[in-house]
Amino acid sequence: MDISSILQGGYAHPLSRKWQAKRHLTKAMFMYPIFITDDADASVEIATLPGQRRWGVNKLEGFIGPLVAKGLESVILFGVPLNCAKDGRGTPADDASGPVILAIKKLRALYPSLYIACDVCLCEYTDHGHCGLLHDDGTINTPPSVERIAEVAVNYAKAGAHCVAPSDMMDGRIKAIKRGLMDAGLGNKCTLMSYSAKFASSLYGPFRDAAGSAPSFGNRKCYQLPPTARGLARRAIQRDATEGADIIMVKPSMPYLDIIADAAELTPNHPIACYQVSGEFAMVHAGAAAGVYDLKTMAFESVEGMVRAGATLILSYFTPDFLEWLSA
Ligand SMILES: [Zn+2]
Repeated sequence: MDISSILQGGYAHPLSRKWQAKRHLTKAMFMYPIFITDDADASVEIATLPGQRRWGVNKLEGFIGPLVAKGLESVILFGVPLNCAKDGRGTPADDASGPVILAIKKLRALYPSLYIACDVCLCEYTDHGHCGLLHDDGTINTPPSVERIAEVAVNYAKAGAHCVAPSDMMDGRIKAIKRGLMDAGLGNKCTLMSYSAKFASSLYGPFRDAAGSAPSFGNRKCYQLPPTARGLARRAIQRDATEGADIIMVKPSMPYLDIIADAAELTPNHPIACYQVSGEFAMVHAGAAAGVYDLKTMAFESVEGMVRAGATLILSYFTPDFLEWLSA
């Protein structure tokens, strides 16, 4: 055999195998998505998301406290309003007595070092379930949608969110939110994380169960990207960086590792986030339950692929598990 044929000596030992990674997983890379509902005492299992629950504000301490003790550094909040009056403009989204704003204030008070991001969208709060305001014919009316989304984002930031993360995919919303944060005196304090490349995926099903956010008619294909659209994703990433995004996100993750790598290449000076979405999480669990692979081994492989592709921040329902696994 030629000298140039021999590679295995370089990774024969467990330690030399570890050295093959350019970057290693750390606890700080994980951001935990949390569903906050408007029943203050709720702790309700979500059947399609193993181990995940909808939480009421009064239950947050018992739930988050042990995770902070294990090294949890960041969360992203999703509001799940079950009892409010929804309307065409998503009025309850930034209700001062709504679950998200109450949760921001509660978590800030309880855990001063915990970084709190908030998903920003209208679909959980509109009576039609779409992510923006609509024309009479049911199509998205972009300018007032952007204006309203920016208003909600600024109100979350005013309530104390360290990061606002618009997931609606409306054109122009990054610029509008950045300007809104600046005008409110929060431009230098609040991070703007853009769901820049969010694809119309089959992997959001369990989330829609959790958040009750399926649209009442139609679908979100006019604003979420087609799964084939690599060029469009690259344009959206560049646009959002230009409009003032501080972090670029790709969603979902596993079928879109090439897009994560594109984001890392196109915006090398930004943190790159990816969302291991509900369907990916459920899929890893389902495969393990079916005996296809070991859960922990597959969970590691799934997120290590994201880090290899270029992700520096991973939004994952596996966060509590990784806090355990990375302590061992
Ligand atoms: Zn939405």
